Amino acid sequence: MEDCIFCKIVRGEIPSTVVYENDDVLAFEDINPMAPVHVVVIPKKHIATLMDVKGDEMGTMGSIVSAVQEVAKIKGIDEKGFRMVVNCNEEGGQLVFHLHIHVLGGKRLRDELD
Ligand code: AMP
Ligand code: ZN
Repeated sequence: MEDCIFCKIVRGEIPSTVVYENDDVLAFEDINPMAPVHVVVIPKKHIATLMDVKGDEMGTMGSIVSAVQEVAKIKGIDEKGFRMVVNCNEEGGQLVFHLHIHVLGGKRLRDELD
């Protein structure tokens, strides 16, 4: 995916602050944090949205959950708690069409959705 911003981050063409990485998954600091801890976890393979996860990619979702656990430990929010958010498509507020999981924490998060 030539023009995808997160694919460019995977290829190192756009800088990012990497929090955790393995063969399948990359986690980096969100450029516009919405909480004291805000990390974006992505599959290295381009998948546009949550609705496009199919077949073998379901296994990648397991790798992503494992990476979220690692990120939570690295950031010291595993015990205190955090939120894992996926925005899907327009009404879900998705702006970058490369599947990503937001890991939010570091403060008491409120329940509002908007
Ligand atoms: P979403 O609205 O779920 O598509 O969220 C996209 C997220 O990607 C936002 O929280 C942005 O701040 C974040 N983002 C966009 N570009 C970058 C970048 N170059 N480095 C880190 N995070 C980014
Ligand atoms: Zn991509």
